[in-house]
Amino acid sequence: MVIRKLAPLRKSIAAWRAAGDSIALLPTMGALHEGHLRLARLAKKKCDRALVSIFVNPAQFGPHEDLKRYPRDLNADLALLSDIGIDAIWAPPLAQVYPDDFATTIVPAGAALELETQFRPQFFTGVATICTKLFTQVAPDIAIFGEKDYQQLQVIRQTVRDLDLPLKIVGAPTVRTRDGLALSSRNVYLSDEERLLAPMLYKEIKTVAGKVAAGGRIGSATAVAGKALTKAGFKVEYIDVRDAATLAPVKSVGKGTNPAPKRRAMRVLVAAWLGKTRLIDNCAVK
Ligand code: AMP
Repeated sequence: MVIRKLAPLRKSIAAWRAAGDSIALLPTMGALHEGHLRLARLAKKKCDRALVSIFVNPAQFGPHEDLKRYPRDLNADLALLSDIGIDAIWAPPLAQVYPDDFATTIVPAGAALELETQFRPQFFTGVATICTKLFTQVAPDIAIFGEKDYQQLQVIRQTVRDLDLPLKIVGAPTVRTRDGLALSSRNVYLSDEERLLAPMLYKEIKTVAGKVAAGGRIGSATAVAGKALTKAGFKVEYIDVRDAATLAPVKSVGKGTNPAPKRRAMRVLVAAWLGKTRLIDNCAVK
């Protein structure tokens, strides 16, 4: 069932609530792949009702970004979701989400500072605003987000916490191809040659994670990885190790301290261009 207007959406949700059903929301921009489908199955497993939203959100794209060419194929998306038992697809038209007199935005700081924001200053304002709208439209018990967009996941957790939004955010692991490339709707932009090179991004951040876990200096580990990526043809925007919850910068834990100091959870995050495709990835420091 594809729903395009807010009134019938609220009607369906009210009927589910009246029946005592719990509701999971999976926000997407469509162009679905196995990564999204894994999240959709999780939504279905966790709640009685699962709703997938499909909306390419102009507010999170910069003026020179790929809004126009972002892949869109609603019929293909519906076919992919048909086996999963999703209860409704929420696919509002642009004017339903952003009427002409729309004038309110959510501007997150905290986890939204730096990293993506340095290169896409509009991005998290667009994401936090659309997600807050989706959360109030659907009023789900849980919303599912992929760790693929790790900073986004932490920003959304913070928005929900800061605004006391009554839902739980569930993070799900990144789904990858066999050779390690994180699945992304944007991977279709890659040429054959770039596609062969792309898994190097994940290899390099895993190497950084390994070095940092072994007590290596963050600065030197990320510098080595950045150089290797640049040499291979990537244009690296950032590669850094951050606190896994707040995304604040962290200092390396020195070797040889006994007992070893208790370490905060850390995450390696990277963004790099391969030709005309911007790739992001991340992994945990174990
Ligand atoms: P998008 O349609 O790209 O905005 O993504 C919708 C949701 O799917 C976001 O929460 C993403 O983090 C998640 N997602 C996208 N790709 C993957 C992946 N490869 N593995 C896990 N989750 C993903």
